[in-house]
Amino acid sequence: MTEHAVVIAGGGPTGLMLAGELALAGVDIAIVERRPTQDLPGSRAGGLHSRTIEVFDQRGIADRFLSEGQVAQVQGFAFNRLDISDFPTRHPYGLGLWQNHIERILAGWVGELAVRFYRGREVTGFAQDDTGVDVEVSDGRSLRAEYLVGCDGGRSVVRKAAGIEFPGWDPTISHLLAEVEVAEEPELGIRQDELGTHSFGRKEYEIRDDEIVYADGGPVGVMVTEQNVGSTSEPTLRDLSEALVTVYGTDYGIHSPTYITRFTDMSRQAASYREKRALLAGDAAHVHYPAGGQGLNTGVQDAINLGWKLAQVVNEISPPSLLDTYHAERHPVAARVLRNTMAQTALMRPADARLEALRETVAELLSMDEPRKRFGAMLSGLDIHYDLGEGHPLLGRRMPDLDLATADGPLRAFALLHDARPVLLNLGEPGGFDITPWADRVQMIDARYFGAWELPVLGAVTAPPAVLIRPDGHVAWVGDLTDPGLPDALTTWFGPPPPT
Ligand SMILES: Cc1cc2nc3c(=O)[nH]c(=O)nc-3n(C[C@H](O)[C@H](O)[C@H](O)COP(=O)(O)OP(=O)(O)OC[C@H]3O[C@@H](n4cnc5c(N)ncnc54)[C@H](O)[C@@H]3O)c2cc1C
Repeated sequence: MTEHAVVIAGGGPTGLMLAGELALAGVDIAIVERRPTQDLPGSRAGGLHSRTIEVFDQRGIADRFLSEGQVAQVQGFAFNRLDISDFPTRHPYGLGLWQNHIERILAGWVGELAVRFYRGREVTGFAQDDTGVDVEVSDGRSLRAEYLVGCDGGRSVVRKAAGIEFPGWDPTISHLLAEVEVAEEPELGIRQDELGTHSFGRKEYEIRDDEIVYADGGPVGVMVTEQNVGSTSEPTLRDLSEALVTVYGTDYGIHSPTYITRFTDMSRQAASYREKRALLAGDAAHVHYPAGGQGLNTGVQDAINLGWKLAQVVNEISPPSLLDTYHAERHPVAARVLRNTMAQTALMRPADARLEALRETVAELLSMDEPRKRFGAMLSGLDIHYDLGEGHPLLGRRMPDLDLATADGPLRAFALLHDARPVLLNLGEPGGFDITPWADRVQMIDARYFGAWELPVLGAVTAPPAVLIRPDGHVAWVGDLTDPGLPDALTTWFGPPPPT
């Protein structure tokens, strides 16, 4: 039997990000992935949100994505665009970049780290005991691991085998999504009518002045609302043709599809993200309508939250109970995504006069500054606040990427996180706390910051004397170095000091 410290089922965006995080911490890690290569048929996610770009920046890989995508104001709530260009972040925008490119770039990064791939085979089940997990793989092999993480998408085998409930709401809307050739040119863009929301577009596009300008040629991407919800058969070209005729009166002579798929507004969330030694992340833990483009982003951020915690547990730095903070912190985040996507689908239904009045009311509200900021921060992930108790507004929120001054010269705060190691950042008088017991795992940096402290939505906050920053970029403690709470915070998040 082959052994790894952690096995990840599924090498989509979530599994890749998690593997990278674990590999950075020196964990022996393997991914079992059904697809023989990273190639992804179809388009799926269309880009990255501000906070995801930030977390890539924390690892020093944001430029790989930025150099291939198109920066734009992408945030939206039920067709209301939310401009975040005045937000206090180095990346006050989103990035248009198809999921196949996001996965290729992520896989390239993971390929530079020590990650074992078992491609072209599936996890079919698992059994766990007190010391580990036996993971069954479709090639007949069994992998032994200390932990198994299901990053295996909405139909997660790991979730089902772990017996984790997946409560939520059945679909009310169904769309066919396809990439095809056409004999007649359709009008490109989104159409909303009494039958639902539909669109034609080209995969290749440019964003100019925040407007999409499609390429002149190439395959056409089509999304059309189906009039029947709940179909379980694989969609065919004929289904697509019939749905198009119903909506547009013609199928534009569609032919030669590269893929046809179906997606719905089914909204479900795992009741628990952990069952002993089995954990869930990404679509395996939450599925919802793609309004606002939040799925991939939420999965990548699940991985960032879980990675360092699981690494510390496997490396015997922290007790397994640290893993419970993963569910406690991330479950509410996805619950909020489900809520906002359900609200958006309600607003996007075929309109009668009353719904139209509601849409106009929401549009009016979102054009006001405070709601724009709140919703923009929610949809971009910049307002995520883990409940770490009372205290300074930074506590539980993301550390801003400040331009620091150190004895060795200028330094960006995010550069301190490139290796996914925690940081005690002292912005006051140097000295005052001896970090020696944690020196093997926590970096101690003395620095100065002369600018304003500003957080999304909250605005200006008082300058903290020192902050303890977790590897995921969230602030675990704020105070000065004489604060008696600092050793407790270090122990809670980064394990007890080794026995002397
Ligand atoms: C039409 C559409 C548009 C979308 N638009 C956006 C958007 O704009 N922005 C956004 O953030 N999100 C968007 N999403 C959602 C996004 O695609 C998903 O949230 C994202 O892919 C989830 O990543 P994941 O890694 O958790 O799961 P997946 O991408 O589903 O990856 C799971 C991986 O596991 C593999 N696998 C499955 N079962 C097994 C098994 N038993 N053993 C081994 N491997 C297995 C699969 O091959 C796959 O590679 C959209 C989705 C759709 C359908």
